[in-house]
Amino acid sequence: MEINLPNAVECLIVINCGSSSLKFAVFSLAGETVLLKGLAERLDRPDAVLTLTRDGRSEVLAIPWGSHHTALQKSVAELGDLKPCGFGHRIVHGGERFTRSALIDERVFSAIEECSSLAPLHNPANLIGIRVARELFPDLPQVAVFDTAFHQTLPAKAFLYAIPFHYYEDLQIRRYGFHGTSHHYVSLEAAGILGKPPQHTSLITIHLGNGCSACAVKNGASVDSTMGLTPGEGLVMGTRSGDVDPALHQFLHDQTGMPLGEITTILNSRSGLLGLSGLSNDMRTLSDAARAGHPRAKLAIEVFCYRLAKSICGLMAGLDSLDALVFTGGIGENSSEVRALTVAHLKILGVSLDCEDNANHGKSNHGWISGPNSRIPCLVVPTNEELMIAREALCLISLTDLPRP
Ligand code: AMP
Repeated sequence: MEINLPNAVECLIVINCGSSSLKFAVFSLAGETVLLKGLAERLDRPDAVLTLTRDGRSEVLAIPWGSHHTALQKSVAELGDLKPCGFGHRIVHGGERFTRSALIDERVFSAIEECSSLAPLHNPANLIGIRVARELFPDLPQVAVFDTAFHQTLPAKAFLYAIPFHYYEDLQIRRYGFHGTSHHYVSLEAAGILGKPPQHTSLITIHLGNGCSACAVKNGASVDSTMGLTPGEGLVMGTRSGDVDPALHQFLHDQTGMPLGEITTILNSRSGLLGLSGLSNDMRTLSDAARAGHPRAKLAIEVFCYRLAKSICGLMAGLDSLDALVFTGGIGENSSEVRALTVAHLKILGVSLDCEDNANHGKSNHGWISGPNSRIPCLVVPTNEELMIAREALCLISLTDLPRP
């Protein structure tokens, strides 16, 4: 598909493709603003829908049995005088192969395919997004931005599991870390807020959304992450258990006869905040319920915050100094309660919050929420993974002398 318009505004399209969904955002090259965004859900089903949002207004289109291709085609038909100059794709797993974003050619495409064994639910879906964008715009550059790439600076002492070494050599079993695009973005923003060059800034960045992870950033580079071989390791999350005893699978199997696959599903989809509370994986619902006296909602929040505080302390082992704790993600940005309960476990380190700044999520103090006597500054920094992907993609595209359609 070729778009030739006299008054065209150049834009870049960021795509985050799931197995039955496709999320996209169209960024203006000048000004980094989102001009159009959309979410196609329930693809390849009779009730497939595409929600398009422009200028704060959303419309929902039914696209029965619509595929990823249909969804993207319908979306680009809405571009009007916007002329895409390339695509940035969110790719979950880049293994050890990708230490940074990459312009997609056949070799890169195959390498992403090869990483699918490490992320069987995510990489194949991400590849669908690349395929449909290439079908629609075969002449435009496509860039892969990896969730794992930022963490490729982890030293061996942080990324190795203490299991027989040949499993690392033969099967690449190691800790990779995820949410790298978010941790990278907020670490750059936080350095800006602190008025320090990123390469001289050390942080613990804490991404708390449906998935949760924390990262030790030493002089601008990731040196440890709470996530591991898969995004299931580490913190308590919405539906994921995070760390459990490695003997748990065997124990559950012996006690209940459940097959391995079912146990994995329980740990991924029915655990975390949902499993503990028996109520919801959504922090807003749990906070409201806890305030109304729901004991297990309260307990789930307590476990979530305690485990997070413990992990923050663990990540400090990777740092020589610490400029700030940085909260981000839907929970990290919006739940003053979670931040307060977590920091309450860090008293021994001399960390404290300013009640008012924490209550308004740092909005009236350039993101600062720590109290005047806190030994470690605390910040709330809204993440923007799509913008980071757009920046990475644009950087690679402008470095490459590609023919423009
Ligand atoms: P994300 O995956 O980053 O969109 O984050 C989703 C999580 O953020 C869910 O658990 C939401 O309940 C939580 N969240 C969003 N807004 C709030 C809020 N105002 N207070 C508490 N949690 C929130």
